[in-house]
Amino acid sequence: MDDATARNQLKNMLAELDRSITVLRGDPAPPDGRSAADAGSDLTGADRAQAMIDVATRQRTAVLDALKRLDSGDYGTCVDCGDPVPEGRLAARPEAARCVECQSVRERRR
Ligand SMILES: [Zn+2]
Repeated sequence: MDDATARNQLKNMLAELDRSITVLRGDPAPPDGRSAADAGSDLTGADRAQAMIDVATRQRTAVLDALKRLDSGDYGTCVDCGDPVPEGRLAARPEAARCVECQSVRERRR
């Protein structure tokens, strides 16, 4: 995947995430169709929306970081060990900052 393709994908992801975050912030009703009328008893729906916002915000940060790495020429290089991030991994997750090994080490640590 060349840089221009990666940049395009990342920009599309960013636009998509911005849209999702805006929708989630604006409408705390859960996506299962219940109306905001029972909002008083609907804390779980609001919590779920907040959890989705958190995930989307984290991913948005990862996408922005990846765009920065494209600008600085570091894109496609693992930020931990400096090895190239495999092409297939970048195709599946263009925002990936780490190779598979470093990512799994990091996730185990959490
Ligand atoms: Zn690595």
